[in-house]
Amino acid sequence: MKLEFMGTGSIGSKRFNACMLINDCILIDAPPGVVKHLIQNKFNLGKLSAIFITHQHADHYFDLPIIIQQLVEKNIKKISIFCNQSIKESFNTMIKLAFPDVYQDFLNKININFTILEQNKKYNYKELQFTAIPTKHGDLNQCFSFMISSSNILVGYSGDTYYTDEIQYLCKECNHLILDCTKQIGDNEHMGIDNILNICNQYPDKIIYINHIGKDIDNTIQKSNNLIIPNDGDIYYLN
Ligand SMILES: [Zn+2]
Repeated sequence: MKLEFMGTGSIGSKRFNACMLINDCILIDAPPGVVKHLIQNKFNLGKLSAIFITHQHADHYFDLPIIIQQLVEKNIKKISIFCNQSIKESFNTMIKLAFPDVYQDFLNKININFTILEQNKKYNYKELQFTAIPTKHGDLNQCFSFMISSSNILVGYSGDTYYTDEIQYLCKECNHLILDCTKQIGDNEHMGIDNILNICNQYPDKIIYINHIGKDIDNTIQKSNNLIIPNDGDIYYLN
């Protein structure tokens, strides 16, 4: 499995918004500016075939209309979007706001295949299987983390979340964990350095990559043997 950290930051950090490209064709989240970032990283947008969206905060899905515009320009005929009901319902409003003059032309040219994520349901996509793990993030409904599996690899990708039973389950099951580390101390919206270091200690054989990294986290997080602090653009091959 190829994991490319397109972005690793939270809204207020210098890092680009958290977003991951998997196997050169699947995006997790579509934050504002991600199309520019993909182009800078020499990614051919024509290869993009699916987008999984963790939740409906702007820094996780506001580039959807720009992605559609680019795919239409490249004459791509279809894209799969896995998201919650609310994002699907707001999509038409988004694209109409983004391109009031040509949105209907876009929608005529590309087949957008929405799948509504359901809690704990498994979705097979190409050679991967995604399980939608329900995630708690403040008062927002229908937020998800993903357990991503291919043959013998299990990767846990947390969306924005605090440290819940579901995240503990993800940590128990997966060998590689990509986890929200927005705060110094975890609260009811995000995980913090305290949660991450506890997980590193509890699971010394697992690799923990922090993500959605808050400002000041880089300078304050204590190093640990199984902790990786990725930079925007970093690529990892897991096998
Ligand atoms: Zn959020």
